[in-house]
Formats: sequence, C-alpha cells, structure tokens
Amino acid sequence: MSAGPRQACNDRSPRALFTATALHITESIMIDHVGFSVSNYARAKAFFAHDPAMNQVRTLRAVIEEGLDKYAGVFVPGGQAPAVDLMQDPDMGAILRHFHERAKPTALLCHGPIAVVSAMPHAREFRSALIAGDVATAKNWAEGWHYAGYKMTVFSNTEEKVVEEQILHAKLYFNMVDALQAAGGEVITTTIDFEPNVIVDRELITGQNPRSDHPIAAKFVAALDRATGAASSRAIGRDKETHMKAARMHEYGKPPVLEEVPVPDIQPDEILVNVKACGMCRSDVQLVDGYFRKYADIPTPITLGHEITGIVHKIGGVVPKVAGFQEGDHVVVAPGWGDGVCRHCLVGNSHICPNVRWPGFGPYGGFAEFIPVPARYLIKVDKGLKFEQIAPLTDAGMTPYRGIKKLRDAGALGPNRIVGVFGIGGLGGYAVQYAKLLGGGATVVAFARNSAKLAVAKEYGVDHIISITGKSPTDVSNELSTATGQGDLDAIIDCAGAPEMMQLGFSLLATSGHYVNVGLVGDRIDIPLFPRVSREQTFHGSYWGNNTDLTEVMALAAEDKIRHTIKIFRFDQINEHIELLRAGEIVGRAVMKF
Ligand SMILES: [Zn+2]
Ligand SMILES: [Zn+2]
Repeated sequence: MSAGPRQACNDRSPRALFTATALHITESIMIDHVGFSVSNYARAKAFFAHDPAMNQVRTLRAVIEEGLDKYAGVFVPGGQAPAVDLMQDPDMGAILRHFHERAKPTALLCHGPIAVVSAMPHAREFRSALIAGDVATAKNWAEGWHYAGYKMTVFSNTEEKVVEEQILHAKLYFNMVDALQAAGGEVITTTIDFEPNVIVDRELITGQNPRSDHPIAAKFVAALDRATGAASSRAIGRDKETHMKAARMHEYGKPPVLEEVPVPDIQPDEILVNVKACGMCRSDVQLVDGYFRKYADIPTPITLGHEITGIVHKIGGVVPKVAGFQEGDHVVVAPGWGDGVCRHCLVGNSHICPNVRWPGFGPYGGFAEFIPVPARYLIKVDKGLKFEQIAPLTDAGMTPYRGIKKLRDAGALGPNRIVGVFGIGGLGGYAVQYAKLLGGGATVVAFARNSAKLAVAKEYGVDHIISITGKSPTDVSNELSTATGQGDLDAIIDCAGAPEMMQLGFSLLATSGHYVNVGLVGDRIDIPLFPRVSREQTFHGSYWGNNTDLTEVMALAAEDKIRHTIKIFRFDQINEHIELLRAGEIVGRAVMKF
C-alpha cells in the first residue's frame, strides 16, 4: 500500500489517542480485535512498534505542507474520535478535497466516513446546526459539498445505539447517518447490525462497521493498484503458494484462532486437497469444549472441520494410477482413516479401526484451505454437485444413512412398521429422508422440540411429526397412537442422543424393537433394564460411516435424491457459527465455503 493512507491519518489526536489507548487494552481484547488471531496480533504489534509512520507522529497540516501529490490514496480509520474531530477539521477537509479533485482512492471505515463532512467550506457551522437540531440550517451550510449525491455508508443509527449508548454510555447529539443525509449524501446501511457493508462510488470507498474491514481493504487495495498501475507488478498472491488460512484450536475451551499457516506437505500416498467447503458439526463444538478429552486427549493445535470437500490439487508419487485421480477432480473426504491392516479395516470399516485418525481432530482439518488426505480415503464425485451440499454428506448426511442401514439389515423396517426419528438437527433432516428411501414402506414419524425443525422433516416427506415439548411419555404415546394406530415404535433412529429424549425413546420402543443411536449430545443414560430384556430389544451404536456408506450416499446425491437445508457462511464467521450451533440456533447444516 502507498505511504499515503498511513501518513495522512497520523493526525495529532484521533489516531495517536487511539494508539495510546489501544496499547493499554489487555492483550486478549486486542487479539479479539484482530480476528482471534495470535499471529495477526503479533503483526499488528510489530507494525505499531516499528512502522516509521506510527512512530513519527505528524500533524495533518505538516503532511499537507510536505505535499500531497506523492500519495496514491487516503484511508481514514474508524474509532469514535473522527466523529467529533475529523468532521470539522479544515486540514482534513483540504486533504479530502485534494484526493477528490484528482479522483484518487479515498477510503473511510466505520465512524471514519463522517470525516467527509470536513470537505465542506462550512463544516463547523454545519455541525453546530445539527447539534442544535436545526436540520434546515445545516442543509444550507452544506451547500456546495462535493460529495453530495455520492453513495456512501457509515456506522448505522442502530449500531450507534448499541455501541455509544449501551456500551460507552455516551450522549448522542446526532446520528452520523442523519448528518450525511442532511449534507446530501446517499447513505446506504444494512438492515442487519454489524453485517459487513462496503459502498464504492467513484473515488469514494466507505465501510459501515468494523466487520467491513476485510472487504474495504480489498476494494481499497484494488483501487490503489488501478491508480498506480501496481496490479501487474504485484507478486501473484503474496505467499499464497506457501501459506493458507486455517482455523486452529490452540487451547481447549477457547475459540479457534483464524490464522495463516504453511500449506502442508504430502506423503507419497497422499493427495493435497484444496478445500472448497466444510460443514460445521456439533462435534466441533464438543471438541472445543473438551467433551472427547476423556476418550482421546488430542494435542493442540487442532485444525477443526471434518465434513470436507474440495479439488485435487497435488497427487503423491505412489498413489496408484488405477485410483484414477487427476488434478482438478472434485472429491469428498471419507473421514475415518484406518491403518488398513486390522480386521475392521479389512472388512471396510476403517472408521472403527483401533488406529483410526480423523481429519479435523488433529493437525489437519477442513477449516483450512488445504488438507493432505491418504488417497484411499478420497472419493471422486460428480462435478455437477454443489460443494456446500456434499460437504455435510460426509458426516451429517452419512451417519444417519449407516444407522438406517443397520435398522434395515436387522429386519426392523418394512410395511406395517413404524420408525421414529428423534432429533431433527443437522443429522435428523437426512435421517427422515433415508427412513423413507430405505424403509421399504415403513411409516416414518419425526419427534423433536423445535417446530421449525419439525417443519423441515415434514417438508422432507415424513408421514407424521410430533412435538415433544412439555409432554409426558404417555401423552406422546397417545399422540403416536392417534396418528398411526400404534402407540409404540418398531424402530428408532436417535440423531440427538440427549438423555431425556433417549428415556422417552426407550419407553416407546416396541417388543423386538431396534434402537440405533448416532447422536452424542449427552454423556450417560439411565434407563430401566427389565423392559429391554423382556421385550427382547436391541440397541445399536452406529458411528459415522465407511467408504461404502459414503459412496452410496454420493450416488443418491448424484441422482438428486437427497434434499438439503444448508446455511452457508464464510471462513471469518467460523467462531460466530460455533456459538450459533452451541445455542441450537442453526436449522439444517451450517457450511463454511471458501
Ligand atoms: Zn461430525
Ligand atoms: Zn485398521
């Protein structure tokens, strides 16, 4: 980036104050401010400590006197200070007019865009009129403002309320949106608070809130490149060949850190996959929370994400030609990587191998741009399939498939049989479809607490839905009887594994019934033993799936027989979505897409 943006903001007060204050904020808050990334924080700290512009603070006036022609563009950062100082500072106004007249990139973020007011000949009077509540007079003072009619954005009124009033307990004299509108700006803000929003109009680039930092940086750098002709000479993608984004957990109980790490090497029998999408699973939340530690205390750092799909990027030297992989192939990652030699592996159940490894539960995972995968655990897929739809099929969409196959193979499905699907979250939405596809005419009933989730089950063709909220087992049994003519269930697939729901499920299980559990919400269950024995019931644990299961699921997907409820999110929204999932607020599956 040119020296311009940094130097032009080195005004006496706002940035200097910001810097001084920032250095007194605790490290953890600072890390939060740079995307939970320790390495970003280290870079920011080094920048503050060593960048000459950060250490030789000059006034805007001094910068003007040295001459603005050498600067390619200007950037005004956010922070509360610009709202008061920069919007009426004549030197700021002179700088903005310089960049406007020469059509040089002018970017302002968050509270920063209010500074464009300073380009008015009567900025102080305009501000005083606004504080007095006299909008008509303010409009008069704004006459001749050269940003009139420009599309722009700024911290919205509702965001302002959250930050200024609720957090900082400040008194607001006027809203910045209203001020820019009174001046003649065409202000566009998002209806959802803190959604990123960047508006570009001619040379002016404005960003609404702190979350607009990445998009505004991209647009500003592109504009600077155009202005200086630097794009062609810029090295392609900095260190893109050697480094990648990855969401890595460094400590149990703490959110993963979004950081840049080296692209991994591959072993001769591996393939490097360029990840295109990765689903987010409840297990990711549990991994962070330490749920699995008593079974496997995986050392950190752990790259999260195990529902992985992408493109073959590089093929190891001993990957057999007959495997038929070529660079550019679309693939899904079968998740249970066995040793290939034990009896479970030899019958195809590598996912229950005693030496199994799981992507997303060790150094490599799907919330990263690249992952090395043993070639035998990659399955080539139809290029017409959407990455965001097939990613969850490697777990959410495969686990219930294997569970339903167990019920089918045990003879628990077929005409005149009633099968219950418990829990309609990420897995249950698929389970109801497989219960219909493999059920051989069985009646399928979905049980859940959340009505939005039951509505998804209904849409996917389930025969009946029963909400269990606030109902006793007897109530539920009566409701089942009314719906199906039978008060108990011949087969159950439990996609939640929540203790209370399991107690309900077992109380509804018929004589000779089969119960398959694929959910792990709870940790222990307490159920009466006698009915299990006297009714000759069978409990099946069913864990994820093997290559064959995944190949069959992919075939169903290629035949367009699986429907999906997908919420796509970006890499930088991973932590936010971990929280949403923890709170049970995701309907269907949330999938990160690069
Ligand atoms: Zn999972
Ligand atoms: Zn094995």
